Amino acid sequence: MGRKVFVLGEIRDGVLRNVSFEAIAAAKVIADGGEVVAALFGESIGDEIITMLHYGADRVVKVEHPDLKSYTTDAYQQALLQVLEAEKPDGIVMGHTAQGKDLSPRIAAKINTGLVSDVVNIENDDGNVIFTSPIYSGKAFEKVKINEGIIFATIRPNNITPLERDQSRSGDVSEMSVDIKNLRAIIKDIVRKSTGGIDLSEAKIIVSGGRGVKAAENFQLLEELAGVLGAAVGASRGACDAGYCDYSLQIGQTGKVVTPDLYIAVGISGAIQHLAGMSNSKVIVAINKDPEAPIFDVADYGIVGDLFEVVPLFIEEMKSVAV
Ligand code: FAD
Repeated sequence: MGRKVFVLGEIRDGVLRNVSFEAIAAAKVIADGGEVVAALFGESIGDEIITMLHYGADRVVKVEHPDLKSYTTDAYQQALLQVLEAEKPDGIVMGHTAQGKDLSPRIAAKINTGLVSDVVNIENDDGNVIFTSPIYSGKAFEKVKINEGIIFATIRPNNITPLERDQSRSGDVSEMSVDIKNLRAIIKDIVRKSTGGIDLSEAKIIVSGGRGVKAAENFQLLEELAGVLGAAVGASRGACDAGYCDYSLQIGQTGKVVTPDLYIAVGISGAIQHLAGMSNSKVIVAINKDPEAPIFDVADYGIVGDLFEVVPLFIEEMKSVAV
């Protein structure tokens, strides 16, 4: 039958986040042969918006306004409601990112529709869309079938495979102006805490440290391993609580939810609250000196040993492979 599906892409420091392309692939399934319209919000948007056409969008829309330079709930909500009013889509997809998690429930309430959040898979069953989302902290999955109303979903980064990039794909590029007023919060400046490491939620490989790492300075060992693997560094809450690293690295129920291709848990016991954030990783490697540690129940590969012996060997091995 064909639906019109709207995608809100995300851009950071001029670079489109991969989840934008994953959202387009999800939108294609929902569209069922219909049109996928992708938009970017910002103060001034360059040619990078064309990349969304290469990844399968049929049409792209630039929404430029000084108040859209950085994400704020108020400004993005006002802009998105106006764009949706103009486009009148049958479906909406955005990333289950910090931005998407904040924006999507507000928009769903405003346009009086339901929301399927944190989707890890989408199927089209004879025109009906079936979403799969983790529940009970990732212990089970639920399937939700939707066949009427506006279909609104947020997708978990790193789960839905984007379409192959094809630079010969083209489509209409338009601009839409929006009216933004009465903002309750205005961002004057952004001071970044991290030093430009790989974004945990989009990282393909994560080296994560727990309380077993024993000291803040020992996290350098994990950073070295991450360096040779091209990985991001994460942590358990145990490590964060002990002051070994910043809370922005925390993975788990009350931290970030990640789905990398490879998750290396170092000195992490595998508490249920930690597993909630990483158990859907494609391959899990655990390094722990306790053979009974629950992390081994979810690990694909386990190394029982002292991390201070295993990790340096691992680094040396990876360096020799890389040469
Ligand atoms: P520990 O449980 O102390 O484990 C340390 C591990 O290191 C042990 O298994 C030990 O065998 C191993 N080890 C020690 N020395 C070495 C060595 N030399 N070599 C190898 N291995 C070694 N936790 C999270 O991670 N994320 C969350 O989001 C989160 N949210 C929570 C929310 C709530 C409401 C609650 C109640 C708890 C939450 N927790 C969360 C905390 C969670 O329950 C655990 O306390 C925490 O995950 C433990 O961290 P850890 O595995 O690093 O530490």
